[in-house]
Amino acid sequence: MEQRQVHEVDLTQIEGKGEFSCPKCKSSISPNDETEEVYSILGTKVGGQILEELVIQCNRCMSRIRLTGFSLLGGSLLS
Ligand SMILES: [Zn+2]
Repeated sequence: MEQRQVHEVDLTQIEGKGEFSCPKCKSSISPNDETEEVYSILGTKVGGQILEELVIQCNRCMSRIRLTGFSLLGGSLLS
């Protein structure tokens, strides 16, 4: 049976504009890429006006990644 592990990526620990590599397959993922070719958005968690969490699925290796640390980026993804 396949184990669905959720990887966690803290965007405040990432340099640049929030791009990071998939923890499993190392695909380059940019949260600002809205084409959803590389990943699909599974869910969001919003606190007030600020996006707190984004759960995505890497379309290459199908692993789930939970992104945190948006608040320190100004919640720009919400616009
Ligand atoms: Zn991946």
